[in-house]
Amino acid sequence: MSKYMQLFQGTSFSSKSPTEIQVLRDHLYCINDDGMIERIVAPEDAEYASLLDAYQGTDKFQRLEAGQYFLPGFVDLHVHAPQWAQSGTALDIPLYDWLNTYTFPLESKFSDLEFARTVYDDVVSTLLANGTTTALYFATVHKEASLLLAQICASKGQRGLVGKVVMDDPEQNPEYYRDADTSTALADTEEFIIAVQELAKTTKQGVYPVVTPRFIPSCTDEGLRGLGELAAKYDTYVQSHCSESDWAHGYVKNRFHKNDAFALHDFGLLRDKSVMAHCNFLEDQDAELFADTGTAIAHCPISNAYFANSVIPVARFHAKNVEIGLGSDISGGFSPSLFDNIRQAVISSRMLEDGVNPSLPAEDRGVPDSRITIHQAFYLATAGGGDSLSLPIGRIQEGYAWDVQVIDTSIPSAKLPIFDEHEDVHDIFQKIMYLARPEHIREVWVQGDKVHSR
Ligand SMILES: [Zn+2]
Repeated sequence: MSKYMQLFQGTSFSSKSPTEIQVLRDHLYCINDDGMIERIVAPEDAEYASLLDAYQGTDKFQRLEAGQYFLPGFVDLHVHAPQWAQSGTALDIPLYDWLNTYTFPLESKFSDLEFARTVYDDVVSTLLANGTTTALYFATVHKEASLLLAQICASKGQRGLVGKVVMDDPEQNPEYYRDADTSTALADTEEFIIAVQELAKTTKQGVYPVVTPRFIPSCTDEGLRGLGELAAKYDTYVQSHCSESDWAHGYVKNRFHKNDAFALHDFGLLRDKSVMAHCNFLEDQDAELFADTGTAIAHCPISNAYFANSVIPVARFHAKNVEIGLGSDISGGFSPSLFDNIRQAVISSRMLEDGVNPSLPAEDRGVPDSRITIHQAFYLATAGGGDSLSLPIGRIQEGYAWDVQVIDTSIPSAKLPIFDEHEDVHDIFQKIMYLARPEHIREVWVQGDKVHSR
């Protein structure tokens, strides 16, 4: 009897709700041929013993060791794959200067497919090693190199959603790095969409094309309108940046006399499959438009500390039913780890709530009710990301993909401070959230396939 492709036994953590953690102790996770969690069986369930009897000792069975736990794989909603090559550098200047001084020259080098392969191979492997099983990527303006990134995701087993970036406005973009013209930008995007949809048929976990205007300042009206039409025609994901910094927010207001959100909506770019990065400066009506259209926010807390001139009011937008996930925003954010971004999301929200200027009286210093908990930040990195993409990922739950990371709290070189074998698992969960590093991630699985181990 081997009805299931695989059977796992162990304790898992997953979000029950945005504020609560579900702990399944010593459960069995039954994975079917499609890599989906078909059944989860509790120890007190009658079937538990017979399933163990049937699978134990076969190569379809894996039991976690003491000190090991399953977490859902992370969903990174905002990664600039080419910028991995400059991660950790150039964080000392404002967004506009950062783009023109460092980022555009780097991205222009991805016309060279060999250079692109070197960087893209490494960034996909690095994200997998950091527990990121699904990533929403900006590539560059180059169609071939963007397709190469999708192919690398496909072959390494990561669920990659990849966008060929559109920057078609000759007034706003340097001559050495932009689309040749608007019609070429749209034709390249359409060819890219078709090629990735073909590639997807060869994968188990799925890869997806994403319509990707870099942000409004880099695109013409005609380009933005054409991209909205392509997203509708092929029913694709859409990603861009929205209301990130004072400069970006102000630019769109000057050009369209409305906020980013409404301008993007006018071009057909706010859809259920849309994810907009940052969104720090959304006003209430913008957030309501996001909720109405199903558009999600990619919250990038580390990057925001450098480039967004503000802390996003996550709690306020969540209360308005806007879908929110987490993004590393490599390389505006220096870290490829969503663990690091979970921590920063909590820290930033605490600073927003309390305020940061000690010369102000306490009651004027902060924004009340802004803090989020570590459980909420974990939700953003997992279930919130899955919901943002409308995919069955980010939860350890029946009907979801077996996208998991195996966390080992007891590796000798980086043992977590757990001294009592009966320590409350909720405390263990929090220690993992705050202290885990890539070396604690022993295995990563996507859609039932092991894609990383150490
Ligand atoms: Zn970005």
